[in-house]
Amino acid sequence: MHKATLDYAQQQDKEDKLSYLREQFHIPKDKEGNDWLYFTGNSLGLQPKQTQKYIQQELDDWANYGVEGHFEAKNPWMPYHEFLTEKMAKIVGAKPLEVVVMNTLTTNLHLLMVSFYQPTKKKYKIVIESDAFPSDRYAVQSQLKFHGFDADEGLIEWKPREGEELLNIEDLEQIVSEQGDEIALLLIGGVNYYTGQYLDLKRIAEIGHSKDCMVGIDLAHGAGNISPELHDSGVDFAAWCTYKYLNSGPGSLGGLFVHEKHAHNKELPRFSGWWNHNKETRFNMRQPFDVMAGGEGWQLSNPPILSMAAIKASLDMFDKVGMEALRGKSEKLTGYFEFLINEIDTDRIKIITPSNPKERGCQLSIQVKNADKSLHHKLTENNIITDWREPDVIRCAPVPMYNSFEDVFRMVEILKGLL
Ligand SMILES: *Cc1c(COP(=O)(O)O)cnc(C)c1O
Repeated sequence: MHKATLDYAQQQDKEDKLSYLREQFHIPKDKEGNDWLYFTGNSLGLQPKQTQKYIQQELDDWANYGVEGHFEAKNPWMPYHEFLTEKMAKIVGAKPLEVVVMNTLTTNLHLLMVSFYQPTKKKYKIVIESDAFPSDRYAVQSQLKFHGFDADEGLIEWKPREGEELLNIEDLEQIVSEQGDEIALLLIGGVNYYTGQYLDLKRIAEIGHSKDCMVGIDLAHGAGNISPELHDSGVDFAAWCTYKYLNSGPGSLGGLFVHEKHAHNKELPRFSGWWNHNKETRFNMRQPFDVMAGGEGWQLSNPPILSMAAIKASLDMFDKVGMEALRGKSEKLTGYFEFLINEIDTDRIKIITPSNPKERGCQLSIQVKNADKSLHHKLTENNIITDWREPDVIRCAPVPMYNSFEDVFRMVEILKGLL
């Protein structure tokens, strides 16, 4: 059977051991009731059907118990964040001690920089990718200014080479070897939101640490997409959101990782609230501050249970399926997508994302020469939900949890027709 046929795609879906998962999600539909071809799980993951039940449970317990729900709820609210820790740690390859779910991504980046961006007069610069997500750029610029430095002068951009789209790790090596004495922090997107490039985190950590720079990773496009093995990578800290590949709803909470080597360092500067105080004495209310070990030592507030319930619903699914199986399917699905795109007989299309599956997650960023946003509108009219980045890039993420080989096939057929 030829690979570029609907029959082949449907056959792949039949053989896919994870195809049953699609049923467990709400797939948005058009007015006639046809499923959208949804490829924006890298922006907002779809809703698992069980999420409603998980949130309803907490609404019911709140209705039935009021404040007593902190202890009497089916899933007591007092330790609720702890129910998420182990499963989240597995997803990012960390020890439970190193991980906590709290706040939102940019907030967590700031809290982590309070601890891990400790500039001196001489060593104060921050390295980011030139294509860093705007929020990360604004965050580090504001940190520079907060510490009295010039936001432009203090920022070093790791850029792709002339005429290239992807980052080359040797260029980071060169930046750090030449300017490392002035660099305090590398804050790098583990999977770049624009190109989909998955960088070698271990190598980044080694490069940073060779000149005593702290190394932080933004995993917004990595968590639930690739298996980053954060602990073994040796990076100092990481943060991510849960509404992209982790399917926990718009604006939902983020996750944070602090490497074990910093877990018991009570001398680290940090911002505090009652929730990073020793939970045994938290309610004595008169204790001198006693910071918790590990990731929990960065919490400030008691956690929002309704949002956490949605995260719990999603993490329970990830835990059942496992990242290994998801990655296995993801490599096949994106590989098939890439194959079909490359079959299109045109010189207008170029995939920016690395072709090596080890250097990417599920997303492909497809550059279409001489295209403008009307292409995006036409895709949308055809029920294809993708993300358009000016001037000419379609970001498209087939997610192994709910996208099918047929989705991918149909998408490419329509794109072909539009070109
Ligand atoms: C999605 C995303 C964000 C969004 O940050 P929030 O604080 O959750 O709004 C930040 N950085 C990166 C790299 C992202 O992909």
